[in-house]
Amino acid sequence: MKEYFHSVVLDKHKCNGCTNCMRKCPTEAIRIRDKKAVITKDRCIDCGECIRVCPYHAKDVIVDDLSVLKNYKYNIAISPMSLYGQFSVDTDMNKVFSGIKALGFDCVFDEGLSADVLTIAIRNILKSNNLQKPVISSFCPAVLRIIQVRFPSLIDNIIEVESPMEVGARIVKTKAMKEYGLDFNDIGVFYLAQCPARVTSINRPIGIRSSYINGAMSIKSIYGDIVKNAKKVQKDEEYMRASPKGVGWGRAGGQSYAIGVENYLAVDGIEHVIKVLEEIELGKLSNIDYFEGLACIGGCVGGPLNVENPFIAKARIRNIARTSEKCDFLNNEFINEILAQGLINWTEKITPKGVMTLDDDIAKAIKKIEMLNQIRKELPGTDCGSCGAPSCNALAEDVVRDKAKIEDCIFILKEKIREKEKYGGKL
Ligand code: SF4
Ligand code: SF4
Repeated sequence: MKEYFHSVVLDKHKCNGCTNCMRKCPTEAIRIRDKKAVITKDRCIDCGECIRVCPYHAKDVIVDDLSVLKNYKYNIAISPMSLYGQFSVDTDMNKVFSGIKALGFDCVFDEGLSADVLTIAIRNILKSNNLQKPVISSFCPAVLRIIQVRFPSLIDNIIEVESPMEVGARIVKTKAMKEYGLDFNDIGVFYLAQCPARVTSINRPIGIRSSYINGAMSIKSIYGDIVKNAKKVQKDEEYMRASPKGVGWGRAGGQSYAIGVENYLAVDGIEHVIKVLEEIELGKLSNIDYFEGLACIGGCVGGPLNVENPFIAKARIRNIARTSEKCDFLNNEFINEILAQGLINWTEKITPKGVMTLDDDIAKAIKKIEMLNQIRKELPGTDCGSCGAPSCNALAEDVVRDKAKIEDCIFILKEKIREKEKYGGKL
């Protein structure tokens, strides 16, 4: 099977094998081997939970630095909705955008604007009677990946529209090509990322063949310079800015609120999302119209590459979203043009990733399940983690997959040693 690309990486020198990440990983993608964490690539959904919980900062994200801007004639920064939550509500965001521009960009695009476009597009799609309920939001790439990996039967529930990040890149790149007569490859589009899931989705997009985005910088790595630059801004520049509801997509529930769907369920935190997806899979939530699942606590404001406390950032965005300003730029003509250009819809079917199945051959898979159940019975069920797997069940699976031995369990090992001693060293 082809390896997934993923943006979360481990610095082995910093890792001290403490097992925090292994215990918290929602897909059981981490093992401890030789006192170091090891990530199983095809299981990782880049949710960033391991980055958040590592006390030694041994997990990081592969992002670009600003030197890549020299590779393009014209550079565009896409500023995420969550950036609004990183500054106090009385901050002049035009100055912040100028601070971003001064990093070396020619243009800054507010991702909330494309959230505004998607708000209207999704509202229209939800009017159709032929939708599998609940319709699942396609906004969070970590949630899309967990559906591919663990809940493939729910793929048809996902609404087939691109994320605001991608739609924004398409709008702004197309516009720059038209206005300045530049070639597609002359323009660099960079996302100011709040999470590894977005970085991965630039490199391995879901639902489209390739992304219009050329790379990403983490908010954390450039925040200090943005603040410094913003303080020095001389000339007041006005940027095209999102409506308060568009900005609201940056917090959990903001997307459903903007769309105006009444019967929705918004859930944040990957573990909670998984529990709700289990319920949906069992057919228990077909009375819900729209499910907005977000991997991070609080929504994108909780992304591990942000700087502000997610609860504070969420409250700020909620306050912004409550104001009733309209977005002038969103007239029907503009939306129709975007829709006509096909800048919103997915073009590729998303496929299940059967990394959780034990074997592609059904007969062999059944045998392996029997073996797994047998091994599970032998293990103590304490989920102590000292074998280097997050649970007894995960160790049993590793044994069936030939990636571990049952004696990695210290209880089994001790029992075997006792037995050996009992029979005078012979077993
Ligand atoms: S990013 Fe998420 S899925 Fe990947 S190893 Fe870390 S915790 Fe696990
Ligand atoms: S909730 Fe937002 S920040 Fe968190 S993983 Fe999903 S897209 Fe990224």
